Amino acid sequence: MEELIFASHNSNKTKEIGALLGDLFQVVSLTDIGFNQEIIENGLTLKENAWIKASTINKQTSKNCFADDTGLLVDALNGEPGVYSARYAGPEKSDQKNMDKLLTNLSEKEIRTARFVTVICLIYKGENYFFEGACEGEIIKEKRGTMGFGYDPIFLPTGLNKTLAELTLDEKNKISHRAIAFRKMEQFLSGLNQD
Ligand code: IMP
Repeated sequence: MEELIFASHNSNKTKEIGALLGDLFQVVSLTDIGFNQEIIENGLTLKENAWIKASTINKQTSKNCFADDTGLLVDALNGEPGVYSARYAGPEKSDQKNMDKLLTNLSEKEIRTARFVTVICLIYKGENYFFEGACEGEIIKEKRGTMGFGYDPIFLPTGLNKTLAELTLDEKNKISHRAIAFRKMEQFLSGLNQD
């Protein structure tokens, strides 16, 4: 089966996308291929960072690969934390500190709308393709729920009365930015394989 490298060390994400791509590809992570160098994600946009990761791996391996990058874009903060979502409160990448900083920065704001956006860069047979998924919602004032990760406890998706941290993984996967972007890439790749 054709191999597709996921430019990530995250085994949970690799399993998720591996299940989605089913019989088409064998999805392998950077850990699986023994790639341990640090990739500096210094792009100014999610798209740039996804491209930096995918193109670094493509150049080093000459193999088909893809990378994703996600950010939380808050309207009242002009799109912050955006590409800085993981390290919003500092390099230690603490979910609790990131959420606390965001709640503090939003404390005086009435408009609390926000969206998670995931961009995937796929490099397939030397061509670059981009896929995007978004999940609209708002930032609530107090953390709710214990599931998920990152900013899930303070993100209320539009139309639901549960935060992302109060949803099961299956429920989150129906509406999440990342799942939407992954499904778009899956549709594209299954289309190619029918030719
Ligand atoms: P990454 O690009 O997937 O590593 O995501 C960057 C950062 O965005 C993470 O460290 C989290 O802080 C945040 N993030 C990404 N996806 C989610 C999500 O589904 N829920 C909550 N936070 C997320």
